[in-house]
Amino acid sequence: MSENKPVNVSRDTVDHLFDIEGRVAIVTGATGALGGAIAVAYALKGVKVVATARNAQKLDALRVQIEGEGGVCTTVAADPSDTDSFAQVIEAAKREFGGVDILAVAHGYNKPENILTQSVEDWSYIMDADLKSVYIVCKMVAEEMAQAGKGGKMVVVSSARSKMGMAGYTGYCASKGACDLMIQSMACDLSAQYGINVNTINPTVFRSDLTEWMFDPDSAVYQNFLKRLPIGRLGEPSDFLGLAVLLASPAADFLTGGNYDATGGYWAC
Ligand code: NDP
Repeated sequence: MSENKPVNVSRDTVDHLFDIEGRVAIVTGATGALGGAIAVAYALKGVKVVATARNAQKLDALRVQIEGEGGVCTTVAADPSDTDSFAQVIEAAKREFGGVDILAVAHGYNKPENILTQSVEDWSYIMDADLKSVYIVCKMVAEEMAQAGKGGKMVVVSSARSKMGMAGYTGYCASKGACDLMIQSMACDLSAQYGINVNTINPTVFRSDLTEWMFDPDSAVYQNFLKRLPIGRLGEPSDFLGLAVLLASPAADFLTGGNYDATGGYWAC
């Protein structure tokens, strides 16, 4: 006969499931819609944020906003596809905050074009911006985390398009599909031995400067999208924050190599 054992869940574990206060996060693409939202959200949760992108002026505005809210932020204008440039971001994290616990990768680029007219150079540029640069920043931060020996969390923004083709998207879909598999492989390299958990978030359409035009409720694009969107609306950057915090937090200690659906149900139908 089996004993009635108490359920093994402690108050301490539950209370601190989503606790990321005091950690240090590097956020790439911090001048963009999703990277900016992640940087502000992490800072409001008490994370020390190293915000990076190529546009120094926009980074400065983000830092002022975060500091205005009582958060801690430093910025480094850098190119994620350039190892020398990105090394400065890691140096800043070490110099200013003593290391890096979380990496959120939210930079990216697209220039849709039919394969018949697209140049090989344009296709390669998309692959470099959306895949090679992601490899570079993950590799460099992983080296730092492995050396520090404290583990860490990596959250990489991929796309719903990683698993679905689309006209004009030979570069974007290929890079995002490869990104998902690269992250799964990274989890195999990094999680058991180094305690570094690596996951992607895969969004559909979230409001940004580039997608704003899709949010016109009268447009055919919006109406067509909605037919395949069980949630009934497109995404706002604030809709993105739950997964971004979860995957950086102790609640994700057992989550690695995953591609997390932020599609409003787009993948479901
Ligand atoms: P934004 O266009 O708002 O921001 C893009 C960010 O990436 C900026 O910080 C920009 O900063 C940086 N960036 C742009 N081009 C390059 C490049 N060639 N090399 C390196 N960095 C670059 O995009 P979102 O915030 O909307 O997107 C963030 C991520 O989410 C991207 O990976 C995107 O593919 C993905 N995504 C977004 C969706 C959406 O609907 N918004 C849907 C699905 C996926 P700077 O120019 O200062 O370097």
